[in-house]
Amino acid sequence: MKIQCPYKCDGDGCTKQKGEGNKWLLLVPDGLCFVARPWDQELVDIDERRPEWPENSIKHYCGIGCLSKALSAWQAKHGASPVEEAKA
Ligand SMILES: [Zn+2]
Repeated sequence: MKIQCPYKCDGDGCTKQKGEGNKWLLLVPDGLCFVARPWDQELVDIDERRPEWPENSIKHYCGIGCLSKALSAWQAKHGASPVEEAKA
């Protein structure tokens, strides 16, 4: 049996693993911002090939709940909303 590389949700405290047909979300770092986008296997594969930049790696989320929690944590850490950062 072929074992697919299981992706785990990067959500805080979330233990979900991605199944074949699950529609997950990605948070892609883009400078000071993040871009939320639907799962893109090609993008994920490219990201896995550059482990030398862990802080810039793409985050995988099982749904909007985990993704929005991550954005809240990011905002709390940086003390500014992503919108305000983008205007700077
Ligand atoms: Zn999750």
